[in-house]
Amino acid sequence: MGFTTDNLAIRARGLSKAFEGTVALQDFSLDVWDGSLLTLLGPSGCGKTTALRVIAGFVKPDSGTVEVKSRRVVGPDVDVPPERRRIGMVFQDYALFPHMTVGRNVAYGLQKADRRRVAETLELVGLAGLEDRMPHELSGGQQQRVALARALAPGPEVILLDEPFSNLDATLRDRVRRELRSILTAAGITAVFVTHDQEEALAMSDMVAVMRQGRVVQAAPPDVLYMKPADAWVASFLGDADLVEGHASANRVVTPFGTFATDLSGPVQVMVRPEAVQLLPDPDGDAVVRSREFFGHDQLVTVMMPGGTLIRSRLGPVPSLQAGERVWVKIEDAAVFKA
Ligand code: ADP
Ligand code: MG
Repeated sequence: MGFTTDNLAIRARGLSKAFEGTVALQDFSLDVWDGSLLTLLGPSGCGKTTALRVIAGFVKPDSGTVEVKSRRVVGPDVDVPPERRRIGMVFQDYALFPHMTVGRNVAYGLQKADRRRVAETLELVGLAGLEDRMPHELSGGQQQRVALARALAPGPEVILLDEPFSNLDATLRDRVRRELRSILTAAGITAVFVTHDQEEALAMSDMVAVMRQGRVVQAAPPDVLYMKPADAWVASFLGDADLVEGHASANRVVTPFGTFATDLSGPVQVMVRPEAVQLLPDPDGDAVVRSREFFGHDQLVTVMMPGGTLIRSRLGPVPSLQAGERVWVKIEDAAVFKA
């Protein structure tokens, strides 16, 4: 897919926001491509909810700009009210009106009551015919879909979802996540979705923007982010990673794991994912298995390189590798960062 600035659904630049001295956003910038699903991923307190609220219009930033489909909605002299931004928001606690029927909850965001639109939206989220139920008569997953229907009913350009699965138990989560993904695809809508769960972010997004301390530190497709994180913090935040220090020169860096190509020079860090480490059992191998954790679907094997550096390998349940066994280590991919 070729992207240009014409097909940006959201363009945020340099957003900053402090609450009585607490910095929530600091030079936050983000691009969301039209029709894509982007996840904002970051630890608790890094500013994810504040970023969504600024984009939706519920919080006014101290500085910065936001455009929705090339239309400025936030800027030095611009502050378009939330209901005129064509953005739908699903709040973390759903925020349904408990004393209103499902149908009235969904109709709430519409300019005028429109039973057909309500029915159509409920059908889209798989709740056809439940207009007259009360929220408390529905399961957690169904309540969430009502909140989604309410946000979708007015036909927004973009929908923002704040930790939409955090109130669901683990067994429901996977299913609801897949359902949400297909509802959003069917609606053909751009979505920004917030989570602090790495696996969830990688599993359901076109793009993941990793946030740390109020700013986006890297935005990339899930596989790129995982294999080519921008720095050691992103690498470790996203999963298991082994890091070694090295010195790069002449377009390469030599490490105890092997030699890797890089454009950097000087002190660097080399990051290796356990999934990119192959072990070849061989009595003449130069590395030794130190320990092994067996999980059934895979195993995590720690080996010691000549010189004592440890590295982990995640591989399928066979071969059965035992402590003391000799192996050759083959690394398929690594990322190199400035140290
Ligand atoms: P996240 O959603 O990533 O957990 P938030 O955006 O909720 O993060 O919060 C970012 C920081 O801003 C936190 O330190 C939080 O305590 C603070 N914060 C957020 N909203 C307010 C508010 N209304 N008043 C004071 N501090 C706030
Ligand atoms: Mg939050």
